[in-house]
Amino acid sequence: MQTVPIDPFDAPLLGKIHQITLPTPFPVGPVHTYLIPDDPLTLIDAGPCTPAAQAALQAGLAQLGVSLSDIQRVIITHAHVDHYGLVGEIVAASGAEVWAHPLAQPSIEGWPSSRALHDRFWLELLLASGVPANLAQRTASLYQGMEQLISHAPVARLLDEGETIGLAGAGWQVLHCPGHADSLICLYQPMDRLLLGNDHLLAHISSNAIVGPPSPGESQRRRPLVDYWASLGRIYEMQIALVIPGHGDAVADVRSLIHSRFRFYERRLARLQEELRRGPQSVWQLAQAIFRRLDLTDTYLATSEVLGHLDVLEGKGLVARTTSDDGIWRYRLT
Ligand SMILES: [Zn+2]
Repeated sequence: MQTVPIDPFDAPLLGKIHQITLPTPFPVGPVHTYLIPDDPLTLIDAGPCTPAAQAALQAGLAQLGVSLSDIQRVIITHAHVDHYGLVGEIVAASGAEVWAHPLAQPSIEGWPSSRALHDRFWLELLLASGVPANLAQRTASLYQGMEQLISHAPVARLLDEGETIGLAGAGWQVLHCPGHADSLICLYQPMDRLLLGNDHLLAHISSNAIVGPPSPGESQRRRPLVDYWASLGRIYEMQIALVIPGHGDAVADVRSLIHSRFRFYERRLARLQEELRRGPQSVWQLAQAIFRRLDLTDTYLATSEVLGHLDVLEGKGLVARTTSDDGIWRYRLT
């Protein structure tokens, strides 16, 4: 397994966690899954459902002396396609049990009601953000097309905050860390101070807090960046020697990375306020001012990113939103 040096810390558990990296068709690049030879034989995360990812997974497993059909348990850390798309194929080959947070269940199992809600939500959100109708349609179609990269499976066990599960002969606490995804869980081993952190804290990019539709049983959408800051603040307070990530290198200097993330977000908040000094603006106008070059795959992420920051400013009472006659939200400084 590749890690950054963690001297003087030494965790024998790391020797039992094998990283298998799979290609994705997304700008984020390859995704890490982790095989833990244990009883049950466990895979953490599944990669997207593409022939290339499946081949890479099979090759990675073969190097460790196991095959797809040997897997007994798949733990999904959050319901993003690069982390769970292949789960149905793995379950079909192995009969493995899938464990995940309750909020990931509708996506993993492919509930039609959840898909319909997502499809509607993206388009409505883009239009209300002021994205031109043609571009909004194309972006929503792109997201609907993600379904091709997903194979579904039943979730056998729901994992939530406060539970402890056995992995690699040790007990790992389940931490619900909403933000990057509302269904995101990290697994923490307090003796060795290891965090299986997936996308909650990444070394090379700031995790996008992605705006999504209301969770099952809720009427309002979550404010993902507000949630994300709280979840980051929480792991800042913990004793963590190493974050084992979903993408890129492991993170040893957790607190300084979180500090730099907060500085980045503060700068972006200031930038948005500066833009708003010129008068009320739509989310899309602000996204275009902040991200100079945006292609189709960036439309939703950029909109979501700006909206997330506007949620924070709105929560602090620094901006207010009105809806114009054309149905577009306009934000202004208070
Ligand atoms: Zn990811």
